[in-house]
Amino acid sequence: MTTPKHAPELTLVIPLYNESEVLPQLLARLDAALPKLGADTEVILVDDGSGDGTAELIDRACRERPWCRGVMLSRNFGHQIAVTAGMQHARGRAVAILDGDLQDPPEVVAEFHAKLKEGYDVVYAVRRQRKEGILKRAAYALFYRLMRALSTIPIPLDSGDFCVMSRRVVDRINAMPERHRFVRGLRSWVGYRQTGHEYPRSARAAGESKYGFSKLLKLAFDGIFTFSEAPLQWSMQFGFLVSAVSFAWGAYIVLWRLFVPGATSLPGWATLTVGMFFLGGVQLFSIGILGEYVGRIHNEVKGRPLFIVERTVNFDDR
Ligand code: UDP
Ligand code: MG
Repeated sequence: MTTPKHAPELTLVIPLYNESEVLPQLLARLDAALPKLGADTEVILVDDGSGDGTAELIDRACRERPWCRGVMLSRNFGHQIAVTAGMQHARGRAVAILDGDLQDPPEVVAEFHAKLKEGYDVVYAVRRQRKEGILKRAAYALFYRLMRALSTIPIPLDSGDFCVMSRRVVDRINAMPERHRFVRGLRSWVGYRQTGHEYPRSARAAGESKYGFSKLLKLAFDGIFTFSEAPLQWSMQFGFLVSAVSFAWGAYIVLWRLFVPGATSLPGWATLTVGMFFLGGVQLFSIGILGEYVGRIHNEVKGRPLFIVERTVNFDDR
């Protein structure tokens, strides 16, 4: 990619997957919010392989608005990859990431950007309140606490992808080739000066969540397995514990057989079968943990590109 003739001050990166219901509202909010941002801003709308006409809406938005740019991916690559594609096309001196469903209000980007200019490299959003179901909130709370306990780098609690980053942070993240991307983790990993900024997270403006259970689980696994080796250590520690207990128990049985008068029969088939199934379960579980890591190595060594861009709109000045 070539250096732009003119780098905007701020780029907003917004991934969209089947968001034709929200997109008109999003554009209206952007139309109103951008002049108040007080910065020379471009907006990159990334179409993550939508099948509901989102790409056509992006085309139209780009025809009507000079600040609007489109990056259309060749298929659905997932939220984190769509964000990555947007970041790689962004040329702003600062880059903001926000969801397309207006859960992250475009109006508050101004506050984040102002804070960044105080001398920070990352201003990440901390959710003051969530407008999601109790089950999803509980799952999120559990996940973030688990992440914090496991991860080798401190990843802030209750902060999602919504943030504003400086150019040097974006360049560092763009240079990371890994494909199991947990963007908020990579962002923390980079370091420099980072700070949180609170905002009330709104409810989705229209349409359904595009993060089904399996996509959420994949994200959680990527977060845990790409930022922590703790699960591997647990399976080893647990194996060690079970071996030690078995050894002690074996020794006890031998001594009992030798020294307790009349100890001839050894009932205990229930113990045996339960122990067998238990250990079988533990072994499969450990292999599963190993598999999560091996699978990720397998995906990385293939070295396929992270995404394929089918076409871009309004990037002619580049
Ligand atoms: N998204 C995407 N690709 C996907 C799933 C989601 O680009 O495969 C986008 C989606 O359009 C939205 C953002 O990621 O702009 C967050 O998704 P969503 O609001 O559905 O997630 P939730 O807020 O329910 O966790
Ligand atoms: Mg959402």
